[in-house]
Amino acid sequence: MVYPSYPPQPSEKEESFINDTIIDWSLGNGLAMLTPEGKGVTAVHAPVTVYPSPFPRSGFESALNVQTTFNELYANVSDNTEWLTEALKDVTVLDHDFTGKLYESYVKAKEIGITQPLSLGIFRSDYIVNEDGSKTNEEDSVSIKQVEFNTVSVSFGSLSSKVSQLHTYLADSDTYGPSAEFLKGKTAISKSIDGLADGLAVAYKEYAKNNVLVSGYSKQVVLFIVQPGERNVFDQRHIEYSLYNNYGITSYRVTLDNVRLETKLLETNGVQKLIYTPTNAEVSVVYYRSGYAPTDYPTEEEWDARVYLETSHAIKSPTLLTQLSGAKKIQQILTDKETIRKFLPNSTPQNLEQLLATFVDLYPMDTSPNGLIARKLAQEQPEKFVLKPQREGGGNNVYKENIPGFLKTLPEEQWGAYILMELIKPPEFKNKILRAGEIYFGGVISELGVFGTILWDSSNSKILHNEQVGWLLRSKLQSSNEGGVAAGFGCIDSVYLF
Ligand code: ADP
Ligand code: MG
Repeated sequence: MVYPSYPPQPSEKEESFINDTIIDWSLGNGLAMLTPEGKGVTAVHAPVTVYPSPFPRSGFESALNVQTTFNELYANVSDNTEWLTEALKDVTVLDHDFTGKLYESYVKAKEIGITQPLSLGIFRSDYIVNEDGSKTNEEDSVSIKQVEFNTVSVSFGSLSSKVSQLHTYLADSDTYGPSAEFLKGKTAISKSIDGLADGLAVAYKEYAKNNVLVSGYSKQVVLFIVQPGERNVFDQRHIEYSLYNNYGITSYRVTLDNVRLETKLLETNGVQKLIYTPTNAEVSVVYYRSGYAPTDYPTEEEWDARVYLETSHAIKSPTLLTQLSGAKKIQQILTDKETIRKFLPNSTPQNLEQLLATFVDLYPMDTSPNGLIARKLAQEQPEKFVLKPQREGGGNNVYKENIPGFLKTLPEEQWGAYILMELIKPPEFKNKILRAGEIYFGGVISELGVFGTILWDSSNSKILHNEQVGWLLRSKLQSSNEGGVAAGFGCIDSVYLF
């Protein structure tokens, strides 16, 4: 597929007008992050591309179309405790400190009692466009391939909505000028702020239907579990504001280490209602924007808070089992067709094909027959692969030539904690990135994330709501291997569909 020549070339004067407009628009509309040194009162515009990046329309539409099938797949996986336990058997031992602790927390909660049958998934499936040089047919030579499926604390739903509005504004208001005339009508707006809030609202209403407000308490609310010192707060706040503006639902924020201080459990009709004590409100939905990395649990206190919340009657997004079903190990096992079929008995063959078409090769690194093949590939052709541990949040992977040396530093018994994934080869084009007021120009590659929300009842596997709720494009300068926006090497982007 031929990518359009990019980016547009405005005059110097036009360019500085565009950049100034981006900064004002971003700060004016909350496309922003707190600064590290700003003591929580100073914000900076989020790092963004100046132009939306070219993205093939067919790949974009396939990614959106397949989202509800993926939602259902992961809901069904997290409901099958026996299967999940068996699938994670080795990594809970090998990665005892994190995957193991998550599983152990589930077991503890189960012993105490898990009473809430409803589960809310707020998911994001990430893709990179793959250019397959071996195919000559133009249509066939580009496809989207899944990088990973995220089941906990998915971020950038709000900032992606905002950046897509920004790029659309710049195109439609003629701010880009004559050199970018062709972008008019070719941008798209992600509805992810309201879409994510809608998911939370559906769970909230379902809880309200099944639970009368505990007498003596003010109202039912949503509780965001957040990281201390979070800089990406506006990405979370926009969802909170949407919940309030569209549904009149109030949210509160608490860090894991403060959960025990600011909430209590109140036994009512045989279940433990979660109460947010500063305002005497009943929590109907617990929404995690923390808890996905070992650093979120510096002491046993945070693990204890996680178990405690799991045993409360509030609906969790996600439950421990849903979080565990997003492990890289599960993604690897789920590339098997028969396994997928078993988890999606009601999907049409077309749906299944669409989903399977997004997979690249993924191998275990254990001593199974496929694991032994992977061990050989990792030594002999490392340039084709990325090695991943059971971690989320960026910065954990080992790439290409670094793989053999890295494996040497580990005892072989530990290798099974990793998966080996075929590298996706994205097309490169040029764009400009605006970060803290500075322009960076160069080759960029992009990763599309599609958001989904699903509410289901694990007592009877009934799905009450299942939606695709918008998307995110993140781009990075070609020189960096990973695209963590908040971590400093990537930026938020939107699509120019061609
Ligand atoms: P994390 O859970 O840390 O976000 P990911 O699996 O998303 O882990 O990997 C982090 C980043 O590494 C991705 O955003 C992408 O830029 C890059 N990456 C991961 N897997 C691949 C792959 N198979 N091919 C190319 N790049 C990849
Ligand atoms: Mg990722």
